Amino acid sequence: MGSTETSRGKNILIDAGFMFTFHAFSADSTKRCWRCVICSCQCRVPDVNDVIVNRLGHHTHGSDAARVEVAKIKANTKSRALDTMELQSEIHNQAVRFTGQSVQGQMSSISATKTLIQRAWAQNEAPLPTLTDLALVVVPDQYKFYHPSPDVDKLFLLGDSGQVDPNRVMIFGRATIATGSKIWIAFS
Ligand SMILES: [Zn+2]
Repeated sequence: MGSTETSRGKNILIDAGFMFTFHAFSADSTKRCWRCVICSCQCRVPDVNDVIVNRLGHHTHGSDAARVEVAKIKANTKSRALDTMELQSEIHNQAVRFTGQSVQGQMSSISATKTLIQRAWAQNEAPLPTLTDLALVVVPDQYKFYHPSPDVDKLFLLGDSGQVDPNRVMIFGRATIATGSKIWIAFS
């Protein structure tokens, strides 16, 4: 049997491709009873010291290896966010890099992964990661533009050699100043 946890830290027991959440202790407190995560399914498994001792009922649905894999990836993403202080985009890329297409189809988008990571950081009061690699920076749209008036968007990120560039250069500024100025400010 395997185990993982949900994004909110709830333990999940994995048995033969099915997922179970903790339901209750037995009356004599010697066993834990786990129930299938599918609400309409009556399947239950008791365990003693992490060893399944019985399987009660039959699943009313097929097993879903991809869903199990997604749950594991999410739990792994969360623990990496807390353990390593890596940047969110890099954690997400690592999380989905080695998964098959059926898993990727179910895996959340990068914004959902960021939410997961930020929730993990907030819950654990982890410090924000220190920026060490410019190649990993994803510039949010609100920093790419400025607004001389409320309904006008003007580029503020004037140049970016891109995440693929190991010596990445980003230039921020107003185009009108940049073209007429002898002084440039760039991050590299
Ligand atoms: Zn079931």
